[in-house]
Amino acid sequence: MQEAIRLATESVAAGGGPFGAVVGRGSEIVATGTNTVTTSLDPTGHAEVTAIRNACRALGDFKLDGCVLVTSCEPCPMCMASALWARLDRVLYSADRNDAAGAGFDDRAFYELFTDPDAVWPTPVRRLGTENRTAPFDAWLAKSDRVEY
Ligand SMILES: [Zn+2]
Repeated sequence: MQEAIRLATESVAAGGGPFGAVVGRGSEIVATGTNTVTTSLDPTGHAEVTAIRNACRALGDFKLDGCVLVTSCEPCPMCMASALWARLDRVLYSADRNDAAGAGFDDRAFYELFTDPDAVWPTPVRRLGTENRTAPFDAWLAKSDRVEY
């Protein structure tokens, strides 16, 4: 955890956001990541996603089972979903969403979109149902050598 906090603090001086993350396996650090949203012009460049991407490249796999994500701050919904997709064993964080809000990073509003049934999303999401909507899934299921994930 101290490494994640150190990375997060150094990220500020480097022009990035104040977030850092480490993917570890046992006592080994597999990869690290910092927030690169503004430096790489990538709204998905959160420290956790960056660390997950770097860990997958380091291990040559798209699964991180057996690994732990240690992050300086509570993951936002995107990062938490990324951790689920990566099949990480566990996520550990230090500062929470309220601490982040105090610094101007208010992920709480995003969490509320998922938990409040009356929430109005700032980005409308609508289904456009089409007759061929399952064609990609049909192709996937028909592919005998697909790599399941
Ligand atoms: Zn995030």
